[in-house]
Order: sequence, then structure tokens, then C-alpha cells
Amino acid sequence: MTEPSSIEVIDPATNETVTTVALASAEETDAAVARARAAQPAWSARPPGERAALLRAFAAEIDTHLDELAELEVRNAGHPITQARAEAAQARDVLAYFAGAPERNSGKQIPTPGGWSVTFAEPLGVVGVIVPWNFPMPILTWGAAPALAAGNTVVVKPAELTPLTAVRLGELARAAGLPEGVLQVVPGTGAVAGERLVRHPDVAKIAFTGSTSVGKRIMAACAEDMKRVTLELGGKSANIVFADADLERAAAAAPYGVFDNAGQDCCARSRLLVQRSVFDRFMELMEPAVAGVAVGDPWNTGTEMGPLISAAHRDRVASYVPDGAPVAMRGSVPDGPGFWFPPTVLAPVSPADPAVTDEIFGPVVAVLPFDTEEEAVRIANTTDTGLSGSIWTRDVGRALRVSRGVAAGNLSVNSHSAVRHWTPFGGVKQSGIGRELGPDALDAFTETKTVFVADDT
Ligand code: NAD
Repeated sequence: MTEPSSIEVIDPATNETVTTVALASAEETDAAVARARAAQPAWSARPPGERAALLRAFAAEIDTHLDELAELEVRNAGHPITQARAEAAQARDVLAYFAGAPERNSGKQIPTPGGWSVTFAEPLGVVGVIVPWNFPMPILTWGAAPALAAGNTVVVKPAELTPLTAVRLGELARAAGLPEGVLQVVPGTGAVAGERLVRHPDVAKIAFTGSTSVGKRIMAACAEDMKRVTLELGGKSANIVFADADLERAAAAAPYGVFDNAGQDCCARSRLLVQRSVFDRFMELMEPAVAGVAVGDPWNTGTEMGPLISAAHRDRVASYVPDGAPVAMRGSVPDGPGFWFPPTVLAPVSPADPAVTDEIFGPVVAVLPFDTEEEAVRIANTTDTGLSGSIWTRDVGRALRVSRGVAAGNLSVNSHSAVRHWTPFGGVKQSGIGRELGPDALDAFTETKTVFVADDT
């Protein structure tokens, strides 16, 4: 099959063509890697303060273009404008946070008889950052910012469907003064540009965010030449509501734990586990909250949920809600063009239903009852993945027991927040390998070198 040389970018809210973007060939991807390799020694040799200043300048450039970036994302991904602004702001903040890292990228001095042992955190070389379409701006910076701070050069491959903000961020990096070849954005398909980055001998590491199935292939391919890899993959996270929780708050928040970004969120709490003794009351409380999710025109600042990314994805999501599915609640969608799917709550639903077992990546949540704390933890842990989740209870001991019991990388108690750029983020089981963000993120983009110096020289 011949690969396309360009892709039409479609506005998911209107089904209109926004623009056409050229897709990189394998040769063009190789050329980007060659430029990155050539630029890397000088970039890592820059005094840490200079690298820091350039990353701060990049963050400032994003800040100046915040509205422009947000508007591009509304057009390209259909994200509500308020959310898109927050995403651009997060990209800025991630860069600003990691601008503090070059000057703190220190090693250790370890007591050693006969001399001194010191460690150096050395850059890896060229890092390939492969990004999905659901949060194009933040995820690009989660990989690129710490990689650059550590002295690596970076080649980013955005998702086919969402190249626009990535390309613009690449331009803004240059405008901020990052030298040629330090951060490049190569729009391309996974099969061509993505595969080439993964298999290129001069790429030292792949930071991949995407589906578990592609992540497995990438990990296998990276094993060929022992390329380093960080994988941020899918999830099927549980939102666990105990009878002793503040039910009003838990019910008001539950829809946003799964319908944010139209459910196209790796952390979506798409399984809602509710203690049986309060099941009916909770469902009653949640009904107005589901109906109240503002779905519609992404340009409206009050909109909370936009369309799905593509027609094909909408069809996939819809396949989990066939005719006769146990729809307990359903929100609204606008009429007319665009890839809309309403917020949908399924109950009662069999634990074996694909809506309970699969990552739908759309605004669909399955509600399951449980009786005891042990049962809640057991159900939460039935999946192969473990990325995120929430626990609603007023009992602090239970909150901690269940947090320790649920196999996931990021949990929230009485909240649905998961990602803060200054705390570590990542999954267990098949949700991935490694952690991004937070104070230790540079570890994933450096190698520790130990040097022993004898004291009798
Ligand atoms: P995807 O796996 O289809 O694609 C992700 C990226 O990989 C794209 O850029 C794609 O072009 C590229 N790609 C595809 N095949 C490739 C190959 N053979 N070699 C190299 N690159 C290849 O995922 P998607 O549909 O874009 O994103 C949705 C998925 O991402 C969901 O499963 C979601 O849970 C996951 N995700 C995880 C996190 C996290 O941090 N854990 C965050 C966001 C999204």
C-alpha cells in the first residue's frame, strides 16, 4: 500500500477542511534525525544557564501566542476553547518548569576508598517524541521539555490527525532562539515517519504516548538496538464511590471524570463503581449532572465537551452502544455536521460487556455496583491496564487502603485530577513503562555515568 504524501486536516465540529499538511517521507525523517544529531553536541555543551534561558524564552513565546495556539487546537481537534487555552497554558508551564532543570541536573559524589566516585547525568543524544491526537500540545511538551533540558535534541512526530499546533510549536521554538535541529516537528504517518524514528540507529530513545497495541510494537522494535523507551499508553480507569462519600459532590463530579475531552483522555474514569447501598441515590444525583454537561460549539467559552476527533472514531465509539444497549442516561449533542456523540451512561451492565472491558476513548461510562471495599479493589484491578482512578470516601484510612490496593500510577481521592506537571505521571501494567513530568523526569532522558578518580595521582 502506498502511503499518502499529505493529509487533509478536518475540523471535527464542522466536517470542513481546515488545511492540507505534507507528510514526511522516510528520507525526510532521516534528514531530520541527521540535523538533530548534528545539533546535539553543541546543544548539550551549552552552559546550563543558557539552555535554561532558551527554554524560558520558548515558554514566553508560547505565552505570547496562547490564543493563536488555542484557536488552532479548536479547529484541528474540536477542543472547547476554554480547554484549548488551558492546554496551551500547560505546554507553556511544562517548558517553564523544565527550564529550571538544566541548572539542577547534578550528579552525586559517593564515598569510595582510595579516591572519589562521582556521577554525571549525561544526555542520551537524539530523542524521538511520538504524540497522540488527544492532547497534542501538552503531550508534546511532556516529552520534549525534559529531553531538551537534559541536553538532548528532539524530533517530534505528531499524530496524523492533529499536526497543526505541533508545527506551530516547532516554529515558536525557533523564534525563541533554539538553534536549528534542536527541536524539529515532523508531521507524518505512524507507519512511515513513526516507524523510521523507532528504527533509526541514531535515535537513542523513544518517548511514546498512544495506544497500548502500538506501544507494544514500539517496545519490541526498540529492543532490537536497545533503544530507551518511555511508554504512556491506554487505560480503563475506575471511579470508586463508597457509601460514606459526599455523594452530592461525587455525583456532580463523576461526569467530568469521564466526559472531559469527550472521553478522549487516557485517564478517563470510564468504569464507575458505586457501593450498592447508595447505588440508586447516586444515580438519581448524577442524572442532572450528566444532562448539565454543556456539549456544543467549541468556540463558545461555556462549552465543556466538543465532538470526537473523526468520523471513524465516532463509529468506533458508537459500536459500544448498539441498539438495545442499557442506556441509563444520555446527554445532548448539537444537530448538523461534526462528529458528535452524546455523554452516555450504561447501567446495569454485565462485567464482561466490551463497554466495561475496553478503552472506548469516547464519552461512555459503565456503572457497576459493589458491596465491600475488597470487592471494589478487586473489580478495579480486573483490567490489564492501570493508569488512573478516583476514590470517593470520607474515611481517610479507607482512602489510603484503597489507593494502595488499586493498581494504577495516578489516583485521586475526592477529586478527578491526575496530571500536574510537577508530579510524576505514568501507568502500571499495560498502561506503560516509566514516568513523565515531576522532579525526576530528567532521569528518563539521561544516562548515569560513574567516574572513579584515584586519590594517589
Ligand atoms: P496511536 O497509538 O494510534 O497513535 C499514537 C502515535 O503513534 C501517533 O502519532 C501515530 O502516528 C504513531 N504511530 C502509530 N503507529 C506507529 C508505529 N508503528 N510506529 C511509530 N509510531 C506509530 O494512539 P492514538 O489513537 O493517537 O491515541 C489514543 C491512545 O493514546 C489511547 O489509547 C490513549 O489512552 C493513549 N494515551 C495515553 C496517554 C498516557 O499518558 N498514558 C495520554 C494520551 C493518550
